[in-house]
Amino acid sequence: MPRPILATIHTQALRNNLAQARQRAFDARVWAVVKANAYGHGIERVFEGLRGADGFALLDLNEAQRVRDLGWRGPILLLEGVFELRDLELCSRLDLWHTVHCDAQIDMLAAHKTNLPQRVFLKMNSGMNRLGFAPERYRSAWTRLNALPQVDEISLMTHFSDADGPAGVAAQVEVFDSVTHDLPGERSLSNSAATLRHSADPAQAGAGSGVGVVSDWVRPGIALYGSAPDFPGHRAADWGLQPGMTLAAKMIATQSISTRASVGYGSSFVAPGPMQIGVVACGYADGYPRICPTGTPVLVDGVRTRTVGRVSMDMVTVDLTPLPQAGLGSEVTLWGRAANGAVLDIDEVAACAQTVGYELMCGLASRVPVVLEEQRDTVHAHNAREKSKNL
Ligand SMILES: *Cc1c(COP(=O)(O)O)cnc(C)c1O
Repeated sequence: MPRPILATIHTQALRNNLAQARQRAFDARVWAVVKANAYGHGIERVFEGLRGADGFALLDLNEAQRVRDLGWRGPILLLEGVFELRDLELCSRLDLWHTVHCDAQIDMLAAHKTNLPQRVFLKMNSGMNRLGFAPERYRSAWTRLNALPQVDEISLMTHFSDADGPAGVAAQVEVFDSVTHDLPGERSLSNSAATLRHSADPAQAGAGSGVGVVSDWVRPGIALYGSAPDFPGHRAADWGLQPGMTLAAKMIATQSISTRASVGYGSSFVAPGPMQIGVVACGYADGYPRICPTGTPVLVDGVRTRTVGRVSMDMVTVDLTPLPQAGLGSEVTLWGRAANGAVLDIDEVAACAQTVGYELMCGLASRVPVVLEEQRDTVHAHNAREKSKNL
């Protein structure tokens, strides 16, 4: 039997989360952001759940190739654009739309030999100070692009630094609007946080400033995978989001310990009284953060309890005091949905690890087997059938 740890991808939850984002965006078209191998979920594994999107946005050319290999014929956007001239050949071949954020990328387009003009998203640096043309240089970049025979339609794009926090998006929207108000082309501004928190109804647009962001295309990533971009201000369920991934393992041992006994490396946890400890087949080599302190929530058989002591490479120890029934083989949910339907938000575990849900998803280790929920159920049904045959 393989080591009892498994990540499960929930296709129906992805579908639900996409619908939630779409609804919040007032039916703007939706790029499903699937960079970083779909935030660690696997592009091939999320494709079924997210194929209702209007396009896929990513960074790596090989990921674009994988989306085309899945049979996707709709739009694909390279969020950082091309990295060198010959990438443009692949853009032509795979019909990729690409971001243009710097002069070097315009130079490459000018040098690209093609008779198929390309769709580009011209990126403004409206305050994030990472990628994009400064506002005062944006229009000249547009004019230069617009004069190139290699360029077809130009869309207008920017990215928010504070959509999830108190500063919000108003200042950046104002910069963007003041520079682009009379330029033609579709607009794409919002990531998940801006889509959920700051979308405005186009029917109300022009009703005054400060109503929010009106986009032709939104670019949600994290929300599609079921994490709240503004946790702890909101939890995923507040936005109608469901976990896209569950990380679960089994209990492989238990220990009865007495008062003042310690657990794990460094003896960092000392029992205040007699305790029952469970040992779970998941450690930092699986992507469960070592920094998670005593008290990080876990579900055992769908019931909430906590970790105790240090996370080690292959194991983590949990408090079974509230769970007299639990034992060898009990299901332990590190994040996501338990068999009884209980949910442990990845955002809660991430907060204990002083990080965000993004990093936990992306950090799932390659040694952890991953299945689709629908496959897992088939595997279970198959095993159950085999078992009953053997009886
Ligand atoms: C990653 C990314 C997104 C998605 O961000 P989330 O916070 O995951 O929704 C949107 N736009 C750009 C340019 C990105 O790089």
